Amino acid sequence: MPVREEIHDQIILGSGPAGYTAAIYTARSNCCPILISGLEPGGQLTGTTLVENFPGFPDGIDGPELMEAMRQQAEKFGTVFVHGEVSRVDLSEHPYKVWVGEDLHRCRSLIICTGASPRMLGLPNEKDLYGRGVSVCATCDGFFYRDKEVVVVGGGDTAMEDALFLARFATRVTVVHRRNELRASQPLQQRARENARIQFVWDTVVTGILGDTEKGVHGVQLQHLPTGKEEEYPCNGIFIAIGHVPNTLLFETYLDLDDWGYILTRNGTETNLPGVFAAGDVQDPFFRQAITAAGTGCMAAMQSQRFLECLEDADCKKCHSLQKRRLVSQTED
Ligand code: NAP
Repeated sequence: MPVREEIHDQIILGSGPAGYTAAIYTARSNCCPILISGLEPGGQLTGTTLVENFPGFPDGIDGPELMEAMRQQAEKFGTVFVHGEVSRVDLSEHPYKVWVGEDLHRCRSLIICTGASPRMLGLPNEKDLYGRGVSVCATCDGFFYRDKEVVVVGGGDTAMEDALFLARFATRVTVVHRRNELRASQPLQQRARENARIQFVWDTVVTGILGDTEKGVHGVQLQHLPTGKEEEYPCNGIFIAIGHVPNTLLFETYLDLDDWGYILTRNGTETNLPGVFAAGDVQDPFFRQAITAAGTGCMAAMQSQRFLECLEDADCKKCHSLQKRRLVSQTED
């Protein structure tokens, strides 16, 4: 098994807006971070088309183009890219260990930006029609549905927020939910129920998406569960809001996670382990925006820098983490 002698200051896991921003900040501080890109370089934004709400691009920018620009910016300052997926980590002792396949990398500080994957319905053409009528982000794509009709799938807070947001643009928003009661919080439910443009179809699942990659979506196939009855329902877009799965499987034995598996952070991006920081969707079930991910990526980079400075200087007052201080004393022993 190849073991690299070098112990890196920082390893960044993930290549979405959080990972690239963390890389830009750390590389620009002359830290030569290693960024392990994962199997989907660029993250969720590479699956989108026009991004209109990332500041600095008044005419919008294609998701893949934005991610490529971030990658180049990280590379320009000296980020070293490792292409591949992390197969295993060992965070039980410092320096931390990260494997890509059988290749072992070690680091003093780890920045986890592995994101979250939207839960999909598992329908055959849902991936082909992604960005062509199928969406998982109302905030990103709602604007394109002005005066159109859309379906939102799900009964949780995200589905209600998406429906409310989409109702600003679309003439009709139909929430399709598999049960006859919502999981969403009462205030959100109430606002959705009181919105004249939002209607609900209960006890029903989407069994098919109608459309093709050229013309986009023109409807969905619905099945009413109690009767088994199927019908075609016309719409111009379908927003899948059935939850996200944070990519935290590798870390669950080492890091504190919330009930849904998101990494718990405090004081910005600190995790329960000294020198391990988490940024972007992997620690954020609420905002999930490219700009918020980039913001926390910046925070993680700066907190990681401070941690490394404190490692070299036990009396350093810049870092407030008691755990880090414990690590400093362990390292000295
Ligand atoms: P969620 O609470 O897990 O809700 C997912 C919804 O999708 C549920 O209604 C579920 O149905 C449905 N669903 C799951 N799998 C499905 C499938 N295969 N087919 C059809 N429907 C399916 O997810 P979320 O709404 O994304 O929220 C995640 C977390 O973020 C929650 O803690 C939520 O409170 C929080 N959040 C909060 C806010 C806010 O406070 N403003 C906004 C967004 C999210 P069942 O109900 O039948 O299980």
